[in-house]
Amino acid sequence: MQGNLNVQTENIFPVIKKFLYSDHEIFLRELISNAVDATQKLKALSSRGEFQGELGDLTIDVILEKKKLIIRDRGIGMTADEIDKYINQIAFSGANDFLDKYKDVQENLIGHFGLGFYSAFMVADKVEIETKSFKDAPAMRWSCDGSPSFEMKECKKADRGTDIILHIADDCQEFLEERRILELLKKYCRFMPIAIRFGEESQWVDSETDFEEVDDGKGGKTKRPKRVEKKVPRIINDTDPAWRKKPADLTDDDYKKFYHELYPMNFEDPLFQIHLNVDYPFNLTGILYFPKVRKTIDPNRNKIQLYCNQVFVTDSVEGVVPEYLMLLHGVLDSPDIPLNVSRSYLQSDSNVKKIAQHISKKVADKLEEMSKAKIEAKKDNENENNEATAQQFNSQLEERWDDIKIFVEYGMLTDEKFCERAMKFALLKNTEGHFFKLDDYRDKIKALQTDKDKNVIYLYATDTDEQHAYIAKAKEKGYDVLLMDSVLNSHYINLLEQKIEKTRFVRVDGDTVEKLIAHDDSIPEKLTQEEKDKLKPIIEGEVDSKRFTVLLESMEADDQPMVITQNEFMRRYKEMSQTSGGGMGFYGEMPDSYNLVVNVNHPLIGQVLAETDADKQKQLVHQLTDLALLSNGLLKGEALTQFINRSVSMIK
Ligand code: ADP
Repeated sequence: MQGNLNVQTENIFPVIKKFLYSDHEIFLRELISNAVDATQKLKALSSRGEFQGELGDLTIDVILEKKKLIIRDRGIGMTADEIDKYINQIAFSGANDFLDKYKDVQENLIGHFGLGFYSAFMVADKVEIETKSFKDAPAMRWSCDGSPSFEMKECKKADRGTDIILHIADDCQEFLEERRILELLKKYCRFMPIAIRFGEESQWVDSETDFEEVDDGKGGKTKRPKRVEKKVPRIINDTDPAWRKKPADLTDDDYKKFYHELYPMNFEDPLFQIHLNVDYPFNLTGILYFPKVRKTIDPNRNKIQLYCNQVFVTDSVEGVVPEYLMLLHGVLDSPDIPLNVSRSYLQSDSNVKKIAQHISKKVADKLEEMSKAKIEAKKDNENENNEATAQQFNSQLEERWDDIKIFVEYGMLTDEKFCERAMKFALLKNTEGHFFKLDDYRDKIKALQTDKDKNVIYLYATDTDEQHAYIAKAKEKGYDVLLMDSVLNSHYINLLEQKIEKTRFVRVDGDTVEKLIAHDDSIPEKLTQEEKDKLKPIIEGEVDSKRFTVLLESMEADDQPMVITQNEFMRRYKEMSQTSGGGMGFYGEMPDSYNLVVNVNHPLIGQVLAETDADKQKQLVHQLTDLALLSNGLLKGEALTQFINRSVSMIK
């Protein structure tokens, strides 16, 4: 029999061939998916008793043979009528529809799903089907050379099932290379539910015929079989991946093992995981792993992989999962994500929205659950009396916080709903290493750290070494200091200030300790206005006026004579503009500017004022400013060397 395919375009094959040039490789996924479907249909018929023959070995074979690539299944096969219906009519009308749609969309389609059987023509200049139905019907050979006409006749075929034979086109020779096909099978078919065989691999086994003599460990000799290399068929897929199993049947080690199966190049274990398993109102399975996210946010490593019924679709999941969840690793599998639509359409799809919300909720559930689960704190053997031993129990979230806080902060910043949930479990860590929930922390500090305007002031440090002197001062006052050192800090702090009413965050070096939290009681001043007017220019004369603003303040006499502070808001905006890139350029380009706060009540400042020898006065001011710079980590290079030399000569 000969016939013409029902195609509207004069000849769609050149169009198919040109279509998505870089993604020709998906033909293999499409054809093997069809083979898997045909096999699963037969299994279903068999289990319902509608097919009573032997199922036999159902493994799908991928075979390279001269210029041909063959995909062979032992599924239901097709009768002549079925070829006519499914291939001649449906497949090709589907092709027309698809190409029409593609012309309209002109955007990347998710995984280019739905290309189906005719995607074979992207790489082959002739395609043959040899098929024998499970029904009692003659085997058929169909062939088409890329024109809208085809040929179909009876043929000899012993086994049930279908061979798709691709005569690979001259410009697609890469698909005749074993290495390339193996790579594609590993990419797209790694977790397909029917075993797929391709080529052979080596295995080391005991020989049945060759023996060797070895020591028996008791001074004698014994014989044992030689180890020999044996070629065995190579099965390229894991038909029963962990995400398809019941969570109750999996141990933590099983999850870890699967993680490394997914990302063979990643040697670090994930921290924990969430197993997704929903039937209604959409179907979704998958495992999401939390990796350690310490300093950098790099969603490009070990990306989440999206599957549709165990068929790999893509690892760019933008639009399917909320942005912050792209930091996670793992797999999502859902037949309810429309895959032959554009990405921009995807985001408005109601199923996709529900799926994204579901995942976000599950993540919040997991973190909340961890914040309630107490585990015994790790004991530090070297120091029996340290705080961790005294505290005994930490929540699981506390144990993991340093590794996942960036993730939680990022989620709170980008997802309103998640933020609402996270306000209940997000943690703050102080410079002593203790953790607090947001509400608890406020209760802890509000007595001492409420200022005269009823704002609760949260003091924080970003580096406990660099800001050591300031932290110590604040603690002397009985204040608590948080450690906030994540890359998202300034954005996150802004968020908390918005979310928690009457709250201000100030870095410990944001002001002198008296002014960090402004109470009503001010310290009486020892200098008169006249003396202050005289003092200010003396000090200004010795510092770089572009970087430092000199402020005279009355502090305790035993506080430092001079302190360097940096305005909280200027600093924070500058940091934010650096991490968010653009929009706040003005702040980002500003040089760092500091306040040089002079403690007018300090005896040494009185001494500066009283000094009549101009050189000595200069030297004293210099020494004091350098000390202030030093305690802030700002004294460097030549200035530091000069300071050391000057100090030595003063001690002499
Ligand atoms: P889809 O798989 O999306 O239905 P295809 O164009 O890939 O579209 O295939 C069209 C139809 O051809 C399938 O629905 C199926 O009925 C039939 N078919 C394709 N490949 C096979 C196969 N290997 N064995 C049996 N039937 C097949």
